[in-house]
Parts: sequence; C-alpha cells; structure tokens
Amino acid sequence: MRATVVGSGVAGLTSAITLQRAGWQVRVLSAAPIEALTSHLAAAVWFPTHAGPPEAVARWGAETFEVLAGQAELSGSGVVMRESLALYRCAPERPAWSSAVRELRPARAAELPAGYTHGLRFVVPLVEMPVHLPWLVGLFRAAGGTIRVVRIAALDEVVEDGWSELVVNCTGLAARELAADPSVYPVRGQIVRVSNPGLTLSMRDEQHPAGRAYIHPRTDDCILGGTLDEHRWDTDIDPVEAESILARCTEIEPRLVDADVLEHVVGLRPARPTVRVEESVSDPGRARLLHNYGHGGSGITLGWGCAQDIALLAASER
Ligand SMILES: Cc1cc2nc3c(=O)[nH]c(=O)nc-3n(C[C@H](O)[C@H](O)[C@H](O)COP(=O)(O)OP(=O)(O)OC[C@H]3O[C@@H](n4cnc5c(N)ncnc54)[C@H](O)[C@@H]3O)c2cc1C
Repeated sequence: MRATVVGSGVAGLTSAITLQRAGWQVRVLSAAPIEALTSHLAAAVWFPTHAGPPEAVARWGAETFEVLAGQAELSGSGVVMRESLALYRCAPERPAWSSAVRELRPARAAELPAGYTHGLRFVVPLVEMPVHLPWLVGLFRAAGGTIRVVRIAALDEVVEDGWSELVVNCTGLAARELAADPSVYPVRGQIVRVSNPGLTLSMRDEQHPAGRAYIHPRTDDCILGGTLDEHRWDTDIDPVEAESILARCTEIEPRLVDADVLEHVVGLRPARPTVRVEESVSDPGRARLLHNYGHGGSGITLGWGCAQDIALLAASER
C-alpha cells in the first residue's frame, strides 16, 4: 500500500508518519524545503487559535496534546512542557481548551504583572520547530520514507501518476488553488524573535488593548507576538507593528528591555472556516484523495489528532 503526501509542513509530516505506522509506504512531495515553510516559523505552542469546528478542534487538540507531551520526554524532539500564564483584566470564563490541559489553576496575585487582576497558570507543550521538523523528518526517513522537493501544478498530477493508491493533500494555504477551495484564506502573523534574557514562563494576553501579546521563551531565543490579520496576503514587515509588539511584551515582562532583536518574521496561517479532514469523491479506478488543511493558528496544536483521522479514513472503505 503506497501513499503520497503532498506537503512537508506539520500537517504533511504528521500524516506521513501516522500512515507509515499504519503500514503504508509513504513518499512526501513538497514545493519547498522545511526551513521555508509556515510550520518552521510558527511560535508553535499548544493552544487552539483560529480553527474550527469547536468539537473536532477539542478532540484533535486533546489527542495532539498527549502525543506532544510524550515527545517532550524524548531527547532531541524539540518539544518541552512549558509553564504558562494567560493574563486577564477581568475574571475569565473557564476556557474551552482547558479540558485538554493537565494542570490549570488561578494565578496568585504575586504572579501577575502590573495592570492585571486575573491569570490562569497551566503547562502546555511548546515545540521548537527548527529542531522538531528535522526530528520528524528523521523519524519519517528512518521508517523508509522519502521526501522530494518538487512543486506540483495540480493534485491530479499525483493522483494519476500511478505511484500510489492514496494521495493526501497537506498543502496549507496553497490548497486554495490546488483543491479549488476559495474558503481557504490567510491569517497573517507578525512576530519578533529576540534573545532570551533568562525567561522560562510563557505569557499571553489575548485582549491587550494594543493587540494580542505573547511571549514564548525557547532554548536559544524568545518569540514575541503577534498579529492575527485575517485575509491579509502581504508578508512585508510592518515596522510600526514590530515596535508595538516589543512595547506590549516588554510591558508584560520588563526583563525583555535587555533582549536583542534577532529577527522580524511574518507568516501566513492557512485558515478556513473549518479544518478540512475528509476524502474527495473520486472514480474507483483512480488513487483516493484525502485532504488535511486549513488549520489556521493551530497546525501544531491539532497535527497528530488530524493525522490520526487521516489514517482512519485511509483504512476505511472508499
Ligand atoms: C506567526 C505564526 C505563529 C504561529 N503560532 C502557532 C502556535 O503557537 N501554535 C500552533 O498550533 N500553530 C501556530 N501557527 C500556525 C501553524 O504554523 C500552521 O497552522 C501550520 O504550520 C500549518 O501547517 P501545514 O502543514 O498545513 O502548512 P505549511 O507549513 O504551510 O506546509 C504546506 C506544505 O505544502 C507544500 N506545498 C504547497 N504548494 C505546493 C505545491 N504546489 N506543490 C508541492 N507542495 C506544495 C509546501 O511546500 C509545504 O511543504 C502559527 C503561524 C504563524 C504564521
């Protein structure tokens, strides 16, 4: 049983590895190397953001949380379990995502930065993608998988080339054209990568008056964010936004005032009203075509859960 996965981002690699574990021989085709992908630049914290539908997101998120928590035990995976603090200016409802999180408690007053009256403390996986994606590629290759950098013009090219019985479309934002799906749209994200002045706590304020603010410390740097600009295609750095991100993050964590700016980054999240994990109807004589795209700001958060559904679809009757 041979499968072709188009896309080597987090959706493609989790699908490819999950299919391998189900007994498929898998090749991956990708238009670009992993360092050039949206998946590579992501802040990559487990936290459902801008993805639907809610029930499936809760299930995919919970499944992925467990897989990532297991990977955090493995050296070299790039996954760490990160102490986190969500900040609020008035009492929050219990968040929908909290059921997947193992430990959640109200923050003590002494744990809150100036200006905040409420907070939630919890621990979630943080995935250092520049380490994690090569680690996934290593797992995939060790199980006999191959990756080729090639840009396809249409999914039919792969469906009809006779190599595989199954094709899985994990092309993110490019699914808008490749799957002729106009409901796919970009959600632009601008972030700043700075040196880490010794931080170990992730912090976020989703309702900061100047825009969303998040601080995610990694081993060698710290990701500060960031914007969620729906339907915005440009990937130019907005210098005013960059200053605002630095200012609002430093307001929350004053030790960032000493951090060096290493890089400004913009990426386009592949959004859709609902994540598409389903099979396209096709002729019995052709390879089957499955889709796994449209994860918005949650590709890392939902990856393994969606991939498990892809493997179930692949094992089902056409
Ligand atoms: C600033 C920012 C911060 C983020 N933070 C988080 C976070 O904290 N947590 C979280 O869960 N998510 C986060 N995300 C979202 C996450 O990055 C995406 O949901 C995820 O990367 C999407 O993965 P993907 O594999 O679907 O797409 P991509 O990573 O875009 O991969 C698409 C693949 O399709 C291939 N492809 C496209 N066209 C073709 C073609 N014609 N031929 C062959 N191959 C093709 C590409 O080469 C690539 O391999 C963030 C995103 C951004 C921009």
